[in-house]
Amino acid sequence: MLTEELRAEVARLKHERDAVVLAHYYVPTEVQELADHVGDSFALASLAATLPASTLVFAGVRFMAESAKLLSPDKTVLMPDASADCPMAHMVQRETVDAAREKYGDDLAVACYVNSTAEVKSWSDVCVTSSNAVRIVFALPQRNVLFIPDRHLGRYVAGQVAEKNVILNDGYCPIHQAISADEVRALRESLPGAPVLAHPECGPEVTELADVAGSTSQIVEAAAAGEARDYIVLTVDGVRGELERRCAGMGKRFHFPPTHPVCPDMERITAEGVAACLREGSGEVGLPPEGVAAPARAALARMLELGASR
Ligand code: SF4
Repeated sequence: MLTEELRAEVARLKHERDAVVLAHYYVPTEVQELADHVGDSFALASLAATLPASTLVFAGVRFMAESAKLLSPDKTVLMPDASADCPMAHMVQRETVDAAREKYGDDLAVACYVNSTAEVKSWSDVCVTSSNAVRIVFALPQRNVLFIPDRHLGRYVAGQVAEKNVILNDGYCPIHQAISADEVRALRESLPGAPVLAHPECGPEVTELADVAGSTSQIVEAAAAGEARDYIVLTVDGVRGELERRCAGMGKRFHFPPTHPVCPDMERITAEGVAACLREGSGEVGLPPEGVAAPARAALARMLELGASR
């Protein structure tokens, strides 16, 4: 629980360690309240590389902290719970990538969602996030694009970039995939006229019911700019904190599906865990071997280069 005492201790430890706390929108609200920066994976990845602090506490899952370490190898990167991992980050086989490279040769690019391990990134030509995937896939010179690991985001991108042959892998986010079209239809019936804002990690039968499909940042922007009072939000419930901050005083209400989408790995991150890793220097994330780190870093750097304008 976030007490005034804990808040003061974190502030003191951050100062002593020359640390900043970066939190993803999906972690519990009390952790977001302790953070210096809250954002989606694109915003946090870009920011991590530019911050002057010598220590980054990454309140999120492992692939996020790993990406920060790859882009800032001289900084100390700490995780409040080193076991917080994203199951989708592992959902692709090396053989899938090798088979596509053999079939399409130089006319293939491998685009890798940042929700992936450093090793998976190292097999890829460029990383993408849900904010910039469409723009980056469109900008690639190759016509064939193997999209890994998320099949739902890959399918969404394929629908937006008809010029490309987007080849899908079979990975998925179990939390977004569990949101059903039936519960979205029921919500729409009970809230006539409420815009439906969906993350493209949801299945296609859900995103096709959406008025806006986009990253968590794009969902927040759409809700903040919208004229409606009620919004149906189809992503992890943790984003509620940012929606309420951005729309404070506007009288807007946010409705999440009854399946209550919460990511158990993001929920491992607690305020006490943030304080403990600052206190003890625990949960340090190391660099992978150079044979993995160099190509993974290159894929991330290419994303920052191609996706710089949002
Ligand atoms: S919400 Fe889904 S994609 Fe995001 S960290 Fe959790 S399991 Fe992974």
